[in-house]
Amino acid sequence: MEIREMRERLEAQTLSPYATLSKDSKGRAREELPCPIRTIFQRDRDRIIHSKAFRRLKHKTQVFIAPELDHYRTRLTHTLEVSQIARTIARALNLNEDLTEAIALGHDLGHTPFGHAGEEVLNEILPMGFRHNEQSLRVVDHLERDHGLNLSWEVRDGILNHGGDGCPSTLEGMVVHYSDRIAYINHDIDDAIRGKVIKEEELPQHILAILGRTHSERINTMIQDIIINSMGKSKVSMSDEISHATDALRNFLFDRVYIDSLAKKEEKKAQNILRELYNYFYTHIEALPQEFKIKVEQEGKDRIICDYVAGMSDIYAINQYKELFIPAPWKV
Ligand code: MG
Repeated sequence: MEIREMRERLEAQTLSPYATLSKDSKGRAREELPCPIRTIFQRDRDRIIHSKAFRRLKHKTQVFIAPELDHYRTRLTHTLEVSQIARTIARALNLNEDLTEAIALGHDLGHTPFGHAGEEVLNEILPMGFRHNEQSLRVVDHLERDHGLNLSWEVRDGILNHGGDGCPSTLEGMVVHYSDRIAYINHDIDDAIRGKVIKEEELPQHILAILGRTHSERINTMIQDIIINSMGKSKVSMSDEISHATDALRNFLFDRVYIDSLAKKEEKKAQNILRELYNYFYTHIEALPQEFKIKVEQEGKDRIICDYVAGMSDIYAINQYKELFIPAPWKV
């Protein structure tokens, strides 16, 4: 028996009746020979880690644009924190940890440069609108390699529905949905304190009394609450008390960090960069990299320029802008 088959058998014997078993996957859009060693979800996880879009996450904004100091989160470290939280919950609930990990590692692959400021501006520009979860699916389906990564149905479903209006079809996808919120609410507070946008003592005290006084206590409270509430059940959820406290903390972040703060003052400039780049390529299709240029006729200018601009890291977008619009000093 192959190692993969032994793994699949073990899953069926040990995982929760509500877990998604690798052997029951709805499979891939294009059929492939299974790997002798890895399950379908393990293989998907590896494809995501080896993708170029995954490596670009290291230079994409979480809250602070292109931070120069080492300790701020980037989209890559956010993704790793989501994955770690999600795996802890999935393992405790006896769900499929490999599927959970693959969804978590892929969930933000479609994020724009400059975080939500970038997402907002592309959503304004594009006739079809722009949402990063849909773009993440587009990255794995079309933009990586020549014909996409050909991921399993369950991983694609979890990536598409990790946020926004959708609801993932698997409990593993639900675990990632919650883990994303747990990760960003907590690490964005930590970074906002680090960046002197807020002071520790300004955090709402009545919420800290419920969730915990420290960063790690708060993460722990939320994770444990989900595990206790979801154990042996066919859905993943939080208790009302912790869910309300988490929402209140999120609202505090929106008011004090995301919407109106010193950290946001560079955002208008960042949005202008993306607008200028988009407009430039709209009238200079020939300047697109070859792999994008060849798709314009079939998929349309808007779609393809959006793919190119959305895929840029903060640093790449800034450098492209400099190259196109700022005269270089004469050096000879
Ligand atoms: Mg995320």
